[in-house]
Amino acid sequence: GGIRVSVLGLGAMGGALATALVKAGHETTVWNRSPEKAEGLVALGARAAATAGDAVRSGDLVVVCLFDHASVHEVLDPLAGDLAGRTLVNVTTTSPEQSRELAAWAERAGITYLDGGIMAVPQMIGGPGSSVLYSGSADAFRRYGPLLDLWGTSAYFGEDAGLASLYDLALLAGMYVMFAGFMQGAAMVAPAGITASDFASRAAPWLTAMTGAFQGYAAVIDGGDYTVEGQQSLEFSDLGDILAAASAQGVGTGPIAMVQDLIRRQIEAGHGTEGFARIYESIRRPAQGA
Ligand code: NDP
Repeated sequence: GGIRVSVLGLGAMGGALATALVKAGHETTVWNRSPEKAEGLVALGARAAATAGDAVRSGDLVVVCLFDHASVHEVLDPLAGDLAGRTLVNVTTTSPEQSRELAAWAERAGITYLDGGIMAVPQMIGGPGSSVLYSGSADAFRRYGPLLDLWGTSAYFGEDAGLASLYDLALLAGMYVMFAGFMQGAAMVAPAGITASDFASRAAPWLTAMTGAFQGYAAVIDGGDYTVEGQQSLEFSDLGDILAAASAQGVGTGPIAMVQDLIRRQIEAGHGTEGFARIYESIRRPAQGA
């Protein structure tokens, strides 16, 4: 590969990204605030830059993977002039607003900007199951797409630089609520002498199978009609038995009570005979009583 690429930030994630680039044969320059983290990459064939500025000037494509938004500004603000005319890909986790702010900063400085959200842990980079979400410059995504694909499956969401972050955080929201649901179940069976490991071995295939319901719910939500035939109604979806069983076990009910509350709000708003997917409305339009 003939692309001169620089990676700033060689933590667990930045190191994995740089390793994939070096192994693919790209001319890779690396920089890290604590220089010893570059040693392994140099052994693989990367060039270590003495300063962040040296690294920026060595790459047509500059990848930053630092701690947070503030550390990105701290490192890049003094280098705006060096970055002008180059492409900056920022895969540091930031909020949508922070991504947009950095995109505006880049535009003022004449820097082509692409924001990325990594949906993987470092060990997954370059392997199956890794994906990276991008938004910002379409030109940058087109030009460097094959290189970005070295890290995982690349997806592009549009010119609004905040969209990749938003999508990233939305996926994490789904993940954390699912994890809490697993913990709820594990806590319920624990007093009966069932280990969390035993529960995990049943919960994993069960929840994996249940993800098959997403598209059906999505069709109802996108169609906007919660009365279509064949749906489980909100009234039928009362979670009182689950709450009672958890309480009888002497364990907490936080995650499941949260879902029961979403159901209750729709029933109280008069939608009890409509489909379970309607709890989406409790979240989507929280102010409208429902
Ligand atoms: P690490 O803690 O391993 O690395 C952090 C990096 O940021 C180090 O290179 C550190 O330098 C550098 N850094 C922190 N503050 C500054 C600063 N003020 N100036 C210069 N450099 C600084 O974190 P990760 O590599 O795991 O994560 C990096 C980014 O990737 C984060 O935004 C994270 O959210 C994101 N990410 C990580 C995932 C993961 O599973 N690890 C998954 C998805 C996204 P030094 O070595 O000198 O301390």
